Amino acid sequence: MGDLLEFCAANELALRRDVETLVRLESPSTDKTAVDRCGLALAGMLRDAGADVRVLRQQKRGDHVRAEFAGGPARILVLGHFDTVWPVGQLERMPFCEHEGRLHGPGIYDMKASIGIAMLAAHALRSPSQRTPRLVMLWTTDEEVGSQTSRATIEEEARRSDAVLVLEPSLPGGAMKTRRKGCGEFILTVRGVSAHAGIDPRKGASAIHELAFQIGELEKLQDPDAGISLNVGLIDGGTRGNVIAEQAHATIDVRVPTMTDAARIEASLRALTPRNPAVTLQVDGGVERPPLERSAGVARLYEQARAVAAGLGRDLAEGGTGGGSDGNFTAALGIPTLDGLGPDGDGAHALHEHVLVSDLSWRAAFLAGLLVSLNRFHAAAE
Ligand SMILES: [Zn+2]
Repeated sequence: MGDLLEFCAANELALRRDVETLVRLESPSTDKTAVDRCGLALAGMLRDAGADVRVLRQQKRGDHVRAEFAGGPARILVLGHFDTVWPVGQLERMPFCEHEGRLHGPGIYDMKASIGIAMLAAHALRSPSQRTPRLVMLWTTDEEVGSQTSRATIEEEARRSDAVLVLEPSLPGGAMKTRRKGCGEFILTVRGVSAHAGIDPRKGASAIHELAFQIGELEKLQDPDAGISLNVGLIDGGTRGNVIAEQAHATIDVRVPTMTDAARIEASLRALTPRNPAVTLQVDGGVERPPLERSAGVARLYEQARAVAAGLGRDLAEGGTGGGSDGNFTAALGIPTLDGLGPDGDGAHALHEHVLVSDLSWRAAFLAGLLVSLNRFHAAAE
């Protein structure tokens, strides 16, 4: 373990160089040309680290990058994304720089520094004395916009793996994420009957008045203590003040801690009935990202990570978050998944986004140590 720490500390500059290269190649999910430029550099880094690299071509989104490192007997999937929420040009407002022990830049915490960490861990494991698992790294390009083009590949790779390590940033303070809520988006469409508000008010059926009532019904499904939240984040409807509204819509964000909750909330939404019988309701959407629940497999993986961290001198905490990641998909398949293996820092999707320099080489050594430990554990179990 000590030699991993030493190697990673000695090669911290290489890690920082990789992170800087990736941050400077801005890569908003919606700009395929920009994302592919970043992916090309990433593929080069992975080849330098000794991987067999395949670029998974996409029409609409950036090409995903899959890298395989030989080893075994365990088979581990390392998962992350290199798209960001920041547009090209954001670097001018958030320049790449180091200030008071923090590295700043668009997408550095979520999650380009994580890629630098994974790259240094891969280099650390090239020494012939390390018995490493067969390692697949999958770096995707549409996590920030719902993972539509990567989900099938992520799930396919996860099914073939003994465990999934997700390199999303750790919780501020450095803790692992062993719970993530499931997330869904629903659209409630209300269709009423238009009429002149002054001449024929009784002939109309207001979609807006009905929607207001239904939002009250949605409120009743909230359960903050149980971690269940519904947010009507967007509404629209109607045409003019003197017209009884024919249509109205609401966009509803739903967060749930368990699959059972997801099913129950979904059923409640589909069962909404109009108060005014002249109005119809339609509910579209669903819980797209199932929750990452702290299953026995997740807990075991965390305990193993904790033991590795202790060997490297740190007490590794765990926690949960309301935000989803691609780890939600792999955990829902029943594959032990540990999320939050990326660096300590703060400000994902915010202007103060940064990572702590002092944490970077430790995280790389920790990831390398965890991979070795998972392989040893697997070999012993066989
Ligand atoms: Zn992320």
